[in-house]
Amino acid sequence: MYHKKHLIFLLPLLFISLFVFSSSNTSYGAELPDLTNTDIQAPDSVYAGQSILVKITNWNTGAATSDDAGYKDTLYLSQDTAIDDSDQILYTNRQTAPREANTPLNLSIPVLIPADTAAGYYNLIFVTDSSKELSELDEDNNILSKGILIQRDTTPPLINSIDPAPGAFNVGSAKAIKVSFNEDIKTGNLWIDLVNGNGAKVAYTTAISSNTLTITPIHPLPQSLYTLTLHPGAVTDQSGNPNSLIVSSFTVSIYRIDIIHYGTGGDIRKNKLVYKNLPKTTLTNQILAAAKKGTPMVTFGDGSGPRVMVVAGVHGNEVPAVIAAMRLINNLSKTSIKGTIYVVPFAIPSATARKSRYWKGANPNQVANKPGTPTNKIITLARQFNVNALGDFHSTKPRGVPGKTSILCTRYPTYESYKMALSISQQTRNSLISQHQAGASYPGAVEDVCNLAGIPAVTCEVKSRHNTVAPGSVTSSYNQMIALLRYMALL
Ligand SMILES: [Zn+2]
Repeated sequence: MYHKKHLIFLLPLLFISLFVFSSSNTSYGAELPDLTNTDIQAPDSVYAGQSILVKITNWNTGAATSDDAGYKDTLYLSQDTAIDDSDQILYTNRQTAPREANTPLNLSIPVLIPADTAAGYYNLIFVTDSSKELSELDEDNNILSKGILIQRDTTPPLINSIDPAPGAFNVGSAKAIKVSFNEDIKTGNLWIDLVNGNGAKVAYTTAISSNTLTITPIHPLPQSLYTLTLHPGAVTDQSGNPNSLIVSSFTVSIYRIDIIHYGTGGDIRKNKLVYKNLPKTTLTNQILAAAKKGTPMVTFGDGSGPRVMVVAGVHGNEVPAVIAAMRLINNLSKTSIKGTIYVVPFAIPSATARKSRYWKGANPNQVANKPGTPTNKIITLARQFNVNALGDFHSTKPRGVPGKTSILCTRYPTYESYKMALSISQQTRNSLISQHQAGASYPGAVEDVCNLAGIPAVTCEVKSRHNTVAPGSVTSSYNQMIALLRYMALL
């Protein structure tokens, strides 16, 4: 019944239409194009200042192709459904490609809702052939509109995440910093500071993609603490609300593990007292894996000065210093330093694994002047790297030599050995044991061979019986290492 009723109403209309065409445009009417919009899609609500995509489906429902002269499309933002001078033009574009009869054209139009738009209900009104240049079958079906709620965003953009995370350690040197907000952002005053641990500014480039600001240092970052500051208004949200002050720090750590001498490899895990006291980290595991092959050395820094070498485990039956060296390595991997630190935590891993003082029947601290020995190799590298100071860390049994927690040095020929020992002694309150001439009492000792070669060196001892860890001895040994690094201005 419903359909029949409609037909009855439509039939007279059809006759009227035919009559209108036959009376005005008898010969051309049916061959005109007719543009009409069949669909308009856009978000139902939007913030002023935000960009949106408006999708239009436009058909030529006429019988003819539109001509080459083309026509213009316009998208308005209006507070009502009619177009007048108060309406804002969001988009206008000339279509020059001929439009074939009975074909659709899909348009995806990115438009910016002006940031100063007052809140309220509006209409997006799309008008095809808005200048009425085209002769169409029907000139009155060119408009389609959609309602849209425009709101004002008065909330500043807030941080979603920062990568590297605030306080992050072990950040790689080629890291790009990403600051993500809870909404899309755009360029503000871009007042951004990236400074290293010495307060020096680091050069960078910036890029913004939707809600993320990416800050890319121009050069790889050397090992250091870095602080990123986004001053207020560095970026804004789409409505122009500025970010609040953002400050975040992270640490770039660069280290490498090398095997500097083969034929000394050993499984440190076999020395249960040593192993149980080591920090349980990936870095520790990497070093222990390297120690199976030979003498491992961990380097922090890129070779720039000041350069300091820390050596432990020359005597495989001395436990506190090797544990302290491994703690030092693990802590350095999370710390910013100025310069380069070479740490040899196990001079002879096989001797530490066997809990033995000797290597191939010799006391390693009496053969550092003999080519081919692991201690000689360490000194050769120290010369090669042009290190400014070397500390050799041991432990001494009570009533042994020196028998007490102490810092040993010589004044001649490298007086700096004495100055260094004096400072470490003052910082740690450990005894200072100073001898006049390097090589006189202990020829072939690491410290003496270094001092004779012009590399300022000290021997640091903590009191602990062989193959034991006396209470506090690891901390004492560690503090001696830190005192050396502080004296050399690396920390
Ligand atoms: Zn020793």
